[in-house]
Amino acid sequence: SRFSRLPDLGDRIKVSFEFFPPKSDDMETRLWETVKRLEPLNPHFVSVTYGAGGSTRERTARTVGRILGETTLLPAAHLTCIDATCEEVDGVIRQFVDLGVKRFVALRGDPASGVGTRYQPHEGGYANGAEMVAAISQHGSFDISVSAYPEKHPESPDFATDIDMLKRKVDNGATRAITQFFFDNDIYERFVERVRRAGIYIPIVPGILPVHNIKQVGNFSARAGAHVPAWLLERFEGLENDPQTHMLVAAAVAAEQVLDLIERGVGDFHFYTMNRADLAFAICHMIGVRPQHALSAVAETTSAAA
Ligand code: FAD
Repeated sequence: SRFSRLPDLGDRIKVSFEFFPPKSDDMETRLWETVKRLEPLNPHFVSVTYGAGGSTRERTARTVGRILGETTLLPAAHLTCIDATCEEVDGVIRQFVDLGVKRFVALRGDPASGVGTRYQPHEGGYANGAEMVAAISQHGSFDISVSAYPEKHPESPDFATDIDMLKRKVDNGATRAITQFFFDNDIYERFVERVRRAGIYIPIVPGILPVHNIKQVGNFSARAGAHVPAWLLERFEGLENDPQTHMLVAAAVAAEQVLDLIERGVGDFHFYTMNRADLAFAICHMIGVRPQHALSAVAETTSAAA
């Protein structure tokens, strides 16, 4: 059954964690507690986002630099082309390469002004995710992740246009796609089928969003091109003022999603952590991804007992 197979799953499962660069000293402290808690899980890599409209260039670089300097983790720098010239983007790529970054998440980005503002490529800038992959590849050989949208990007007229863009990214050197978050695994599975039919064979890693705040998720889901199903809203109904139960329900919901994906054959997961460790840590524990020191302690106890 699903449960009897769990203990040895950890060996074949790969996880990655996404963080955003902190805005204040308090948020910085919280991020570093989170990073330190998740580090022993030995993730495949961790990624650091790039603020809307390219607004966090310095903070993203600082966070990536700290991860390189103070942890054993392999950071991937997110990078967008919105509101920047090619020269500016090339400068940022060089800055990351000089820091020692070997991994990127190449994106187009959204206007900083937010909802309702239509995307306009910068005159003399890179136009989309595919051009960003090409720009990064010019600087050397890197691990380059790109976005994918199981429910279609909201600006894309249809799936075919979206998957064409993904194909261009792969042709330009993308090594992995990370999906926008989703809550219905059938949608993910259908998307992966479409992608494979289009002759795209890179890993399509599901992006898992543990629900720290259902109201917030509802607010940004439309713009993200991800719908929040009614059954999910119902699960959290009435918990607005009960953060502890909200957290327990969130852990249960995410564990259920991830376990079901494992049953469908998925082995890689990317967690949108929101700079919080608890939910990601608990879900990883459920799927056998556990701190390396704890695992060796268990092995020692077992061999001492034998
Ligand atoms: P692209 O892949 O270039 O385009 C997305 C789709 O839109 C394409 O498939 C295409 O069908 C359509 N499209 C593109 N250009 C046009 C056009 N001119 N006209 C019509 N249709 C077009 N945002 C940030 O600001 N910082 C981040 O760090 C960040 N990290 C992310 C990480 C992941 C894993 C994901 C899934 C998203 C992330 N985003 C981030 C959000 C992302 O920037 C937005 O979703 C943005 O709207 C699209 O960027 P993209 O790289 O996916 O675009």
